[in-house]
Amino acid sequence: MAIAGPIATPSILHEPLTAPLDADRRWMDEAIREAAAAGARGEVPIGAVVVVGNRVLAGAGNASVAEHDPTAHAEVRALREAAHAIGNHRLSKTTLYVTVEPCVMCMGAALHARVARLVYGCPDPKGGAAGSLFDLASDRRLNHRIAVTAGVAEDACRALLQEFFRRRRAPPT
Ligand code: ZN
Repeated sequence: MAIAGPIATPSILHEPLTAPLDADRRWMDEAIREAAAAGARGEVPIGAVVVVGNRVLAGAGNASVAEHDPTAHAEVRALREAAHAIGNHRLSKTTLYVTVEPCVMCMGAALHARVARLVYGCPDPKGGAAGSLFDLASDRRLNHRIAVTAGVAEDACRALLQEFFRRRRAPPT
């Protein structure tokens, strides 16, 4: 069997534009895959991907337990990997997709990175910093604002979390 040639790299210039909602759902599905993989590793199942145009720069799930690192949230890991990938600590024009509303730390990281847009799945009323508990995305005292779209694949994102915590609370059989 012939070996296939080099895999074509998708280019934002050559790919047809996808309707924003379809694209959001498509990228959120990637974030959900990262979340599920994190859950399977015993981490809180939250996943994130960083996208520019029609291209994924990075994807990651939570890894705080495995890495003994309180900062190893999915968003921080994905932002770090994306910045490495493009060789720039500024991630202007990127969209951060995350299954759950980011915490204060992750919103801080997204602001430092100058992320243009945040799309998240389910809100976190107890710790969310993109509109629930705090609204760091549109706080005019800060020098950058992030456009937020909430509720993309909300039920699927929440179900992952609920199932994880239900299992953790369940008595051993
Ligand atoms: Zn976080």
